[in-house]
Order: sequence, then C-alpha cells, then structure tokens
Amino acid sequence: NTPLHELDPDVAAAVDAELARQQSTLEMIASENFAPVAVMEAQGSVLTNKYAEGYPGRRYYGGCEHVDVVEQIAIDRIKELFGAEAANVQPHSGAQANAAAMFALLKPGDTIMGLNLAHGGHLTHGMKINFSGKLYNVVPYHVGEDGQVDMAEVERLAKESKPQLIVAGWSAYPRQLDFAAFRRIADEVGAYLMVDMAHFAGLVAAGLHPNPVPHAHVVTTTTHKTLGGPRGGVILSTQELAKKINSAVFPGQQGGPLEHVIAAKAVSFKVAASPEFKERQERTLEGAKILAARLVQDDVKAVGVDVLTGGTDVHLVLVDLRNSELDGQQAEDRLHEVGITVNRNAIPNDPRPPMVTSGLRIGTPALATRGFDAEAFTEVAEIIAQALKPAYDSEDLKARVSALAAKFPLYPTL
Ligand code: PLP
Repeated sequence: NTPLHELDPDVAAAVDAELARQQSTLEMIASENFAPVAVMEAQGSVLTNKYAEGYPGRRYYGGCEHVDVVEQIAIDRIKELFGAEAANVQPHSGAQANAAAMFALLKPGDTIMGLNLAHGGHLTHGMKINFSGKLYNVVPYHVGEDGQVDMAEVERLAKESKPQLIVAGWSAYPRQLDFAAFRRIADEVGAYLMVDMAHFAGLVAAGLHPNPVPHAHVVTTTTHKTLGGPRGGVILSTQELAKKINSAVFPGQQGGPLEHVIAAKAVSFKVAASPEFKERQERTLEGAKILAARLVQDDVKAVGVDVLTGGTDVHLVLVDLRNSELDGQQAEDRLHEVGITVNRNAIPNDPRPPMVTSGLRIGTPALATRGFDAEAFTEVAEIIAQALKPAYDSEDLKARVSALAAKFPLYPTL
C-alpha cells in the first residue's frame, strides 16, 4: 500500500507536472475537458480489479454483484439522459464504440459513407488506414463552398453507391447537422444511420443541440469531450438492435469491461443531468461565439486570419489561416508559447500538408468547466487575436494568460 510518490517517484513527478500544466495554462483543445474529482475518484477505485465479462446479471465471472449495480446505473442514466431505448456503456473509447457499432451492422466489404477526414470527419468514419477504411468500401461526402455539409452531395452519393451505413458526425465542424435529412436519405437507400455525437454530446445532454437519438438507428459517443466524464465510449441504439450491439462489443471487439471507468461514466451522467451542467454548456457555447466574433474583426482579417463558415453553433471555432503568414503548426506553437493549448487542423481544400495544415481548432468546453464566463472568454479571444498577429507581445500575453488561470483555479484541492 505504498503511495505513488514513494513507490514510483518518476511517474509521480510526471503526473504532478501534468497537473501543474493543466492548472497554469488555458486548455482549448476542443475534444478535451476536466473531469470532476468525483469522476476521477470512481475511476481510481478498486473496481479496476474486477473481471466482469458479460453484462449485468449475465456475467462469465463470479463476484460481480457490485459492478452489476454500477453498470446498470450507468446504463439507466445515459438512456434517460438522451432518451435512448438501449445503451452499451462498455466501449473503452470512441473509436472502439464506432468499431463495435460497425461490426454489428456491417460485413467486411460493405459500403459506408462518412464525412471526409480533411472536411471534419473522424478517422473511424472511413480514413484509408483506419479499420473503417480497410474493412469497408468508403464513399466520403464533403462540405461545400460555404463550409457546411453538402446534403445534395450526400443524397446523390447515397443513391449512386447504395451504402449499408451512413455516418453523420464530426471531429472538426462548427455547425449542426440535419439528422432528419440524413435519416430520410438513409431510408431512401435502405442504409442504417449512425450518428457519432462524440463532440457535441454534452450540448445535446443540456438540450442546447438537436438530439440525434430519435433519428438514428445507432448513436455513438465518447464520454470525455463536452460530456465531461472519463475517457471512454458508449453506444446508444434502438431496442431492436441492442442484442447485436451488445454481442459486437463483447465478445465481438472487447474482453473484460473497465468497470472502474464505467463507474466514472455513471457519475458523469449524473452530473450531466444537473442544472449546473446545463449552465456550463451555455457558457461553452457563449465562449465559442465570442471567440468566433473576435476572429472575424478587421484587424485580424488584415493579417489573413478568418473563421470557417463565419462563426459557430457549437463548442469550437475553426480558424482559417490560408491567407496568414502563420501556418497551422506555427499558430499552434505561437499560442502554446503564450500558454494556450490548441491543435492545428486541416481545413477543407487545405493547401498545406496534413502535418502542417492551414487551420486551428479552438474549443471552449474545458475553460467553461473551469468557470470562464463571457468576460473571461472575451479576454481569451483578445489574447488569441493578438497572438496571431506578427507584432505580438509575448510577455504581455503570457501575463494575461496567467492572470486568467489564477482567477479560475483548477482542481484547487488536488
Ligand atoms: N468520434 C469522433 C467524432 C471523435 O472526434 C473522436 C475523437 O477524437 C472519436 C470518435 C474517437 O474517440 P477516442 O479517441 O476515445 O477513441
């Protein structure tokens, strides 16, 4: 029972340094968040020791009476949160959830449609060297000139290619998808509709984004992005598909479930149903709107900075650097230098290579969790606008980032 700091000072030092990094910088990676201490407590619990292959009440191991309770709570809570008929809370990650959902609904060689990676899709939506691109015949759809998903193209490609599955969802897209239109097209060609709401699930839970569940056969999500829980995945489905999904997760794709993570998921679903969570998601959206509005002002336009689609309806902003002297890598480095963490991101028709890119993806969920309000987001937006200019004052911007970090303490009890 030796504590971590004594048993393994090397790992402990890295963990401490990571806590200090999270506390002292501003986290604006759109897919990241800060899990509540209670979520991390559940995740760090003795449930990590338990094997529980199977599902609550139907396990292949003895001694599952307590993890059964935990897993059933997680299932019931997430069904309630999103109005789903069935839920599988065992996927270890979002990618595992997508792999299992596709494994349940498709045969190798079947055709799937997904948003092209460079246009905002995820690796698991059909990227060439991902399992989805290797196992299935992929027909990607795209965003149009206006930066929004081209539903006319989706319909045309669906009619031409007769996919077995259409995936609606994204990792880098600043607008909402028309789930009803996707379902209509899927029905017309006899395809399943799978919505991957990994990015915007928290907004849906708060009632601030359309819910895909009534429209889709299957909805997958991660639990660690806007939803604010532990790293992990979930699959929601109709009752009709539940058995297929369950057997695709276990034994199809995974062995023993991570019951400590499932406990943490359950806690985060409780949090996600609270009024405080809704208020946090409202600040998340407000912060993204403030940032987008700042990055379309004339002074940043003058240095070649712009915002894709001109704004945002979600928790992130896509910055277009095609006309800037900074490429995506340089802009990411510049913000890192002043204490703001973001990721560079390929944008549609990006002239620069994928390791460099001409875009930035900037998200507000983690700062909203930290307590940032409109005034704080206005200051963040100003810091970012100044940092992207050639004549930026690094020392001034670093001091302003530190002041914000101090004003909104993160994990003060850790
Ligand atoms: N789906 C979408 C839309 C995502 O953006 C991501 C992660 O970035 C995933 C799935 C995969 O999640 P994970 O990283 O947990 O495998």
